[in-house]
Amino acid sequence: MLAPFRNYRKVITLSCLSAALLLSGSGEAAVAATRGHNLPAVKSSGVPAGSKVNDEAARKELYEQMSAATGIPWFRFAAIDQYERTIAKKKGGTEVSASSRLTSIAIPAPVWSGPLNPDQADKSPDSISFFGGFGQDGSGDDLADPANDADVLYSMARHLLNYGNSANDFNIAIWEYYHNGRAAQRVAQFSKLYEHFGRLDLSGSAFPLPVGTMYAYRSTWGTGRSWGGARIHEGTDLFTPHGMTVRSTCFGVVETKGWNRFGGWRIGIRDIENRYHYYAHLAGYEKSISRGDIVTPGQTLGWVGSSGYGKPGTQGKFPPHLHYGIYRDRGITEWAFDPYPLLKQWENQEYRTLRKNKKNKS
Ligand SMILES: [Zn+2]
Repeated sequence: MLAPFRNYRKVITLSCLSAALLLSGSGEAAVAATRGHNLPAVKSSGVPAGSKVNDEAARKELYEQMSAATGIPWFRFAAIDQYERTIAKKKGGTEVSASSRLTSIAIPAPVWSGPLNPDQADKSPDSISFFGGFGQDGSGDDLADPANDADVLYSMARHLLNYGNSANDFNIAIWEYYHNGRAAQRVAQFSKLYEHFGRLDLSGSAFPLPVGTMYAYRSTWGTGRSWGGARIHEGTDLFTPHGMTVRSTCFGVVETKGWNRFGGWRIGIRDIENRYHYYAHLAGYEKSISRGDIVTPGQTLGWVGSSGYGKPGTQGKFPPHLHYGIYRDRGITEWAFDPYPLLKQWENQEYRTLRKNKKNKS
C-alpha cells in the first residue's frame, strides 16, 4: 500500500536556486525559490509516477540543481543518497516508510537540530545553528526541515564544503559524517561509478560464464562443504572446464583481488545496489584488472580454475569450477543471499538476446 502515496509527493521548489545567495551563508532569505514549479524531469512518458525511471530522472535533476547551486559535483550527492537508500532497504528489500521524499538521506534528529537542542524537532535555522546542528534551509521557506529533500541536500553540501573539492577531501568529509569506514568506502565507490558512467541507471547484467559453452550448475544454497568446518555453502558452483572465461555480472568497482584460503584466487566486485559479487577458485586474472577499477557486465575478470583450500597457490583439491556468491551490505554486516535465481534469470536473458540477434541476421 505504499505506492499510492508516492504519487502525492511534495512538489520540489528548487528551480531558481542561486549559487551566490546559497553560498552567502546568511540564514535569512538565502535562497530564492519559485513555488509551484515542478521538476521538469517528471514528465508523463506513460511511465507511472513513482516508477524507477521517473524517480531516477527527478533525482538526477535535483542533484544537478544542487550542484549548480553549491559547486559540489552531482555524483557525490547521488553516491551519499544511494548509500543510504541501500542501507534503508534492509527489511526484506522494501522501503522502510511511505515517504513523499525523492532522496533517502536520513539525518538523525540530534545531528540535524544539534545534540543539546531541547527541541529535537526544531526547524528554525537560527536556533539549529545556535545549537551547532547540521540542518539548513535549502528550499527558501525559512525552515530547516529534515524531511525536505532540498534542505537535506543543501545541509549535506554545507558539510562537504568545509573540506574541499578533491575526491580525497570528499572521502574525509564522508568519514567525518558517518565515522564508519565501510560507509566511506561505499560512498567513494558509488561516486566513482556515477562519475564514470554519468548516469544513475547502472542495472545491466550478464551471466558469469559465456552462455552456449559447456557448464553445469544447480541450486546448492546452504549445503555442507567439505573443508573449513561447519560453514554453509554461500553461493552457487558452476562446473566448467579449467580456463573458461569468467565475466563480470554487473556494473561495479573491483573491491578485492588476491588470495583467500577458502576461495583461492578470488575477485570481489561492488555494484551500485551495494551488493558484493564474489568469484572464487580462479586459475588467474585478466591482467589489466586492478583493485578500484570499474567493470561492465560481460567484461572478462579471469579464468576458471581450482585454486583454494590452502596456502597461496594451492590448487587441484577439487574439480575446476566457478564459485559465485552475492552478499548484501546492510551497513554493519554483510549477508549472503542465494544467487541461483539471478543466475537463471541472467542466463535466460542472454539466450533470448542471442536468439533475437540470430533471427535478425538470417
Ligand atoms: Zn562453491
